[in-house]
Amino acid sequence: MTIDSYKFAGKKAIVRVDFNVPLDENGKITDDTRIRGALPTLTKILKDGGALIIMSHMGKPKGKVNAKYSLSQIVDAVSEKLGVPVQFAPDCAKAADAAAALKPGEVLLLENLRFYPEEEGKPVGIDKEDPAYEEAKKAMKAAQKEFAKTLASYADCYVMDAFGTAHRKHASTAVIADYFDADNKMLGYLMEKEVQAVDNVLKDIKRPFTAIMGGSKVSTKIGIIENLMDKVDNLILCGGMAFTFAKAQGGKIGNSLVEDDKLQLALDIIAKAKAKGVNLVLGCDCIAADKFANDANTQVCADSDIPDGWMGLDAGPKTQAEFKAAIKGAKTILWNGPAGVFEMDNFAAGSKAIAEAIAEATKEGAFSLIGGGDSVACINKFGMADQVSYISTGGGALLEAIEGKILPGIAAIKGE
Ligand code: AMP
Repeated sequence: MTIDSYKFAGKKAIVRVDFNVPLDENGKITDDTRIRGALPTLTKILKDGGALIIMSHMGKPKGKVNAKYSLSQIVDAVSEKLGVPVQFAPDCAKAADAAAALKPGEVLLLENLRFYPEEEGKPVGIDKEDPAYEEAKKAMKAAQKEFAKTLASYADCYVMDAFGTAHRKHASTAVIADYFDADNKMLGYLMEKEVQAVDNVLKDIKRPFTAIMGGSKVSTKIGIIENLMDKVDNLILCGGMAFTFAKAQGGKIGNSLVEDDKLQLALDIIAKAKAKGVNLVLGCDCIAADKFANDANTQVCADSDIPDGWMGLDAGPKTQAEFKAAIKGAKTILWNGPAGVFEMDNFAAGSKAIAEAIAEATKEGAFSLIGGGDSVACINKFGMADQVSYISTGGGALLEAIEGKILPGIAAIKGE
């Protein structure tokens, strides 16, 4: 079923959204991007004459009630954005009466799902080494099903729209789907957009395809690099991980970030790129600093010849030109991870050069997908979010999708 073809009139829809918004110490929302992201789905259902039961997690309360993570804090903001008063169910597992009383156009927000350990389905208070752990795990899985069944009983249909948690097999993101038949469960608009964006870089690829992977460590990105190797024309590897490659090739990298146990892996990646005809861009120079601080003394060095005591914190001018050349003319672009310590203004130029080249290529018709944590912060810092095709709302979920993994939240609906 799809959200566009379902007849919501007179129906109750239970919608899993990602309202895990950051709050300040007074419980005020500091960034409402995630709430805005869910609005198209929520307003569509209301406009069609459906009633909404909205569910989400917030933070990591670890299966216990914790006022700090109460979704009651966002009721007013959600009411204001939806333009209708939002009722609140202070116990998500005891909301049957409130749900039954909902009339078309009305909205009920359930309390934080993760106040119940059943949501995540992991046994609490027992060590993995404990001989009783397996039993506890089995019992928790059974309890998780019951919890999901309770949530499902509130509604006629289920809409999954929380991309940020789609890589988790939780009660509300996947298990609940077992209690609806195929005609009564569907992805929301946000999920549809995210799935399309991932398809654009993994399946319906327009060439040339340039992927840019940066950030601190090659070890956390290896699954993605390997999956992309079969698909890309140009692969830029930048940020801290570039120095593991420089050292692996015999370079002197001073105090730069390095993963000494990944030197062979770096050489294997270089060999693989060569064998597959991928243009691997590792950069050749960097901005080296004498300390990890914005006011450090700096000099431009070859990546392979950084003086003792200095560390590469950003891409150098020649490397920036290499990045631009590999991005210019691309028709598909994926960017994850900064090219330097962009949080410090003096080491943001490499990431800025990438952002500008992506914006330029996007203007020329490329599809550009930015996602996975820091690159989103990066593009926002440069005020260029509106100059790329799509910014993913998922961190871990996006990375797993790009690794080629099937996300449980999608599989539960599509049966893949
Ligand atoms: P990740 O979480 O692996 O995507 O890495 C993101 C972080 O990598 C950011 O906080 C950057 O400041 C950091 N980073 C990027 N380039 C470097 C570098 N050359 N040295 C140290 N940290 C870096």
